[in-house]
Amino acid sequence: MDCPECKKMTEHTYLHNTAHGIPGTHMVGSERYECNECSYKMFRNGMLNSIQKRALQYVKNTNGGATKANFIEDHGPIGNELWQDLTAGAYINVSDSGSIVLTSIGEEELAPNF
Ligand SMILES: [Zn+2]
Repeated sequence: MDCPECKKMTEHTYLHNTAHGIPGTHMVGSERYECNECSYKMFRNGMLNSIQKRALQYVKNTNGGATKANFIEDHGPIGNELWQDLTAGAYINVSDSGSIVLTSIGEEELAPNF
């Protein structure tokens, strides 16, 4: 597989997240390939667009202080759609207390070097 970071053919490891950490389950949209040389991650569902990324930043900024209702309200007419995008890609999660938090995938997506 061609690594966009190494700019050459490298070995890649296939990874995916389990749903809620339950072994044998599968989190939709979390499939990704990680370069064995530089650890660059490629998601099967592609990179997020800037609007989705901003929504992800919103979740990070609220630092667990927002609920799904807050998220949808604050993103106006596209709130529901954005919510679907980010949950389907497993970028965000709803915690037991009802607040929205970034998953490790979401964190990686916002990391400057990703
Ligand atoms: Zn690489």
